[in-house]
Amino acid sequence: MKRVGIIGAGPAGLTAGHELARRGLEVEIFEAGPHVGGMSRTIELWGHKVDLGPHRFFTRDDKVRRFWTEMAGEDRQVIDRRTRIYFGGLFYDYPLRPLNALANMGPWQAARCVMSYAGEKLRRKNEPESFEDWVVGAFGRLLYEMFFKSYSEKLWGITCDELDADFAAQRIKKFSLGEAALGMLRLKSGSHATLVDQFDYPAAGTGAVYDRMAESFRGLGGKLHLATPVSGMAEDGHSLRLENGETLRFDHLISTMPLTALCASLPDLPEKVRSACTGLAYRHTLLVYLLVDQEDLFSDQWLYIHSPELRLGRVTNFRNWSAGIRGAPGQSVLALEYWCSDGDALHGMSAEELQKLAVQEIRTTGLIKDAQVLDATVIRIPKCYPVYRKGYRRDLAVVMEHLKSRLTHVTAIGRYGAFKYNNQDHSILMGLLAAENLGDNARHDLWSINTDYGVYQESM
Ligand SMILES: Cc1cc2nc3c(=O)[nH]c(=O)nc-3n(C[C@H](O)[C@H](O)[C@H](O)COP(=O)(O)OP(=O)(O)OC[C@H]3O[C@@H](n4cnc5c(N)ncnc54)[C@H](O)[C@@H]3O)c2cc1C
Repeated sequence: MKRVGIIGAGPAGLTAGHELARRGLEVEIFEAGPHVGGMSRTIELWGHKVDLGPHRFFTRDDKVRRFWTEMAGEDRQVIDRRTRIYFGGLFYDYPLRPLNALANMGPWQAARCVMSYAGEKLRRKNEPESFEDWVVGAFGRLLYEMFFKSYSEKLWGITCDELDADFAAQRIKKFSLGEAALGMLRLKSGSHATLVDQFDYPAAGTGAVYDRMAESFRGLGGKLHLATPVSGMAEDGHSLRLENGETLRFDHLISTMPLTALCASLPDLPEKVRSACTGLAYRHTLLVYLLVDQEDLFSDQWLYIHSPELRLGRVTNFRNWSAGIRGAPGQSVLALEYWCSDGDALHGMSAEELQKLAVQEIRTTGLIKDAQVLDATVIRIPKCYPVYRKGYRRDLAVVMEHLKSRLTHVTAIGRYGAFKYNNQDHSILMGLLAAENLGDNARHDLWSINTDYGVYQESM
């Protein structure tokens, strides 16, 4: 029987572990934190349950849907999505609705968007290299400036000209805000409404699925070690080394820890691979949670804050998700998202400074009117966005080739684990396919998921 060691109990690691244990393999999962679920966990704050930012579940892949549904059980619901964009002091319904958008834009601005789109369609273009080229080419410069530029630059911390076109191609290939805008202006037909208007959500929060998965994994004989961080590979290049110094040998390892950290631990790493690793950067999320003394602040589950004058990127209102996660009546918990990189101004801010900024910015949007903020807390999520900077593919290819050729007993999957901008469904898919490779001798190329994987992915 094969013995498999897995690093990380997020959606990717847990799924792989569960499916391998189901096939009768001997599996041990090592999780750094005291809980399972990774970025998709649900936590308790002030007697309310909250996720780490908005976590809707959506997939068009039958295999992923079947597995997620099995794990979520009956205790889940389909939620009607209510989201808006805040830009230029105004709220745009998202998905865009013609009357609301026209009222906000005015006929002159709408006509300018049409002209800018038409101008782009007439222009001869080269293959887009940057995110900016891709979006301007697809939707026109004006829609790009209104609905893509400032939000993307806040999220990624680089200009849209430095962001790889790959990001646009992966995340806004099939449906996007841009297409919605063109649809609204009657420049494109076809409706994707069913894709974005509803999503699945477990009644007790996103993390409930992973708590159940962990329980089921243990029931299948799997071993789960919480609060057991892995420092990387041991000198023999085969065993896994725990931070407590212990070294454990397995027939195969599945890693969902940050790819760059895994690589840094590898013995005899060629200089070329080491240098490629330093080219792969991650962006961090700072979540400022506010406890507010009213329960009917606004009806959105979340809002995108495009206005460039605010550093705030997204606001989630957990009151509007499911009754199962609500705490005391008369209160709401909001999560305000900020993004930062190592060493920048936001990264260096103390919790008190971030809380002050968050309260000031949420008041500027008018979303909480004169409600009082009763308490606040900050949660930092490191390395949660792999940055698709132009040229990242070259660096990733070098790392990938090294792992494929020299470490055939190691499989890297997951969001920071494989440096892929995964949603839960992609990480679950990677886990399922990794289990098929090991358990059934399948030959899926896990590195190609997210580019060849032809399912719907949403831009925002
Ligand atoms: C703000 C935000 C909003 C999001 N919204 C959505 C959404 O709406 N819908 C959606 O589907 N997805 C959403 N996502 C993405 C979703 O959270 C991730 O895709 C998913 O959790 C990735 O799963 P994973 O297993 O690949 O990685 P993770 O969830 O990051 O899990 C990795 C696990 O590995 C552990 N680990 C790391 N290093 C070590 C180590 N050295 N030793 C041991 N353990 C280690 C970590 O503690 C973690 O538990 C969102 C993410 C964020 C940050």
